[in-house]
Amino acid sequence: MELRSQTRTLTLAQTFAIARDSRDVDHVVGLELRHDGLVGHGEASPYDRYSETPESAREWLERAAPLIGDDPFDLEAIEARLDRELPPQAAARAALEAALHDLVGKRCGQPTWKLLGLTSRTPATSFTLGIDSVEGTIDRARSAVEAGFRLLKVKVGGGEDLARLEAIRTVTDLPVRVDANEGWTVADARALLPELRRLRVELIEQPFHADDIDSFLNLRELRGGIPIVVDEGCHRLPDVARIARYADGLNLKLAKTGGIREALRMIHAARALGLRVMVGCMIESSLGIAAAAQIASLCDYVDLDGHLLITGDPFSGLGFADGAVVLSDAPGLGVAPR
Ligand code: MG
Repeated sequence: MELRSQTRTLTLAQTFAIARDSRDVDHVVGLELRHDGLVGHGEASPYDRYSETPESAREWLERAAPLIGDDPFDLEAIEARLDRELPPQAAARAALEAALHDLVGKRCGQPTWKLLGLTSRTPATSFTLGIDSVEGTIDRARSAVEAGFRLLKVKVGGGEDLARLEAIRTVTDLPVRVDANEGWTVADARALLPELRRLRVELIEQPFHADDIDSFLNLRELRGGIPIVVDEGCHRLPDVARIARYADGLNLKLAKTGGIREALRMIHAARALGLRVMVGCMIESSLGIAAAAQIASLCDYVDLDGHLLITGDPFSGLGFADGAVVLSDAPGLGVAPR
């Protein structure tokens, strides 16, 4: 198989701020895998929070090329070789694995979701409102409602959290999830929790730093029925049992799991442990989102809006209906370069 990668700049429609940082553009790595007249596509969204960059992803892909072999169906063996021979680089691994799934689907003439025994229907996705002023948050919420979204995910940890959530409630009754991206302390959580219940917040994502387990254990007593979901603190299968001790669910992203297959293992483990499952994303084009969306029908919460936050999406093929991402019937991941 012949592998080619390139760095792509994705431009955000609006500045995207979270508790840790703020950005107007993001960089992903597009991957093309050629085999026997077909091209499989994959996309890596390396994230500096996890010490990954487009450069480190492309370097990993270069090193991976001679390890892939010549049979795209041989996924278990390919992944075992990659994990044995190369240092972890989850976003790049996910791109390669997505391209292999795309190739397998195209070879079979079937969409990936169908080969996995799943469905093209996915639960409604949340639309993410980055940290903004109160006025800016109202505008963003209003636009999301007008665009047909049925759920909002609000980035918090920016100082005006309560005022922004109150403002959203003046605009819409849609379910609201909050994501603090490790930005809160226990004192913040303690002060906000009664208000979050009053404002009917559906869940809280990653309130504290991934390593601050004591704060999570503290929150267990206080949360009063609002599920706590771990994102930054849960990457691969061994993390799932660990977080079951202090949280109610996990947010899977292929850029952390390293691909669809590990995400499936994690979903099974999560179910065995009584955990809820969200599938999330980074800032990604329709190509990256299409890979995650293949398994979205297995999840309780879907947060696949990365491609809806950018302008000039380099791929097309994903639909949007009734507030949900709609997968294509086309073979493989069902998306194609524009
Ligand atoms: Mg998150």
